[in-house]
Amino acid sequence: MGLFKTDNRKQSVVLRRTGWAIASYIAYFVLGLLAVDAGLLQFPLQSYLFSFSLIFVVQIFFYMIVRTGYYERWRNSTFVFYQILFGFTALAYFMIFVVPDLRATLVNVALVGLLFGIFALERRHFYILAAVPFSIFTVLLVLDFSQGLNKDKMPVFLSEWIVSLFLLVSFSFIGSYLSGLRKNLRANKAQLHQQKDQLEVTHRELNSALRQMSEKAVRDELTGLYNRHQFSETMHSYIAITQTPGSPLGVMMMDVDNFKQVNDTHGHLAGDEILRSFKIIPENCLRKTDFIARYGGEEFVVLLPNTDLPTLEHIAERIRTFVASEVFDNIEKGFGVTVSIGTTHYQHRETVEEVIARADKALYQAKMGGRNQVVYIA
Ligand code: GH3
Ligand code: MG
Ligand code: MG
Repeated sequence: MGLFKTDNRKQSVVLRRTGWAIASYIAYFVLGLLAVDAGLLQFPLQSYLFSFSLIFVVQIFFYMIVRTGYYERWRNSTFVFYQILFGFTALAYFMIFVVPDLRATLVNVALVGLLFGIFALERRHFYILAAVPFSIFTVLLVLDFSQGLNKDKMPVFLSEWIVSLFLLVSFSFIGSYLSGLRKNLRANKAQLHQQKDQLEVTHRELNSALRQMSEKAVRDELTGLYNRHQFSETMHSYIAITQTPGSPLGVMMMDVDNFKQVNDTHGHLAGDEILRSFKIIPENCLRKTDFIARYGGEEFVVLLPNTDLPTLEHIAERIRTFVASEVFDNIEKGFGVTVSIGTTHYQHRETVEEVIARADKALYQAKMGGRNQVVYIA
């Protein structure tokens, strides 16, 4: 129904409730009209029509307030309270003109009004609303009694009064009990939401801690390059890829020349600074698929998948000249180091130890050949 449907779910609920209220007013209008016709309501027809016109105008007014979203200025419970309070005021007004026998019935019609508020009203609203028609009923009874009217019917009226009181009070209790339940539900829901948010934060923190820890586990602390453990892991997966023929895996062992002397002359911290500078080798000399790790002390190992001999020698040369061109003026003006590099290719079905031993042998030959050079052993 287009009249009661909006994008806002809460607004649609309030609209539908307002629609039901209007429908009940129409029903009461018809019933009242019959009562006027039957003389049960001592009301001139014109005044009756006028009164109900007023009621319908107010209902349309309520509808517009909801439709335009203006109702959000009040709390939902307060808005419903005013809707029902208006209905009860109209009800009380008609109670004055209805024949005395029917007054108790009208009071009990108030239960229908309270029913509208059962999912929205708060505890105090139920008591205030129940008090309105009941007070009017009481006042009318007292007036009758003091004027000596309907004396013979007083016992009946009194029992009706007690029944009405009982009905309204018990209904108010039920309503306020529901209202309390609703409040608890809302509080629990809010708490659940909060706990869920908290859990998400903890989860995020745990994840990032885990990431940091696993980063730490694979990195060398001084240079930020991969560590020896990660070298073994990567070596095995690269070997697996290399099993396909025609994709040679190049291996390099690199060692800083005369590093002991650097430490002895310039101190251990200077030596550390030089080692640390090796972290920029990947972006300056290597390709994306190449892997470099600190093998130990001042030794580094490089894995170059899918690399033929000319490329392997070219990249090794690139590393050698890059290191040789680096200058550490803060250690000593124009100071630098060189590296010796032993290179080889992984051979089908050999172990990691075997290929590393061969690269080491090439490195040894480079040292023997005078350092600052590259040696390849097939
Ligand atoms: P060459 O390799 O050219 O034969 O001579 P070398 O002096 O480099 O030979 P050696 O392997 O004997 O010396 C390596 C030195 O590297 C020994 C050690 O004190 C130093 N070293 C190892 N790890 C570190 C480190 O983390 N920081 C510093 N500052 N020095 C280190
Ligand atoms: Mg060494
Ligand atoms: Mg050395």
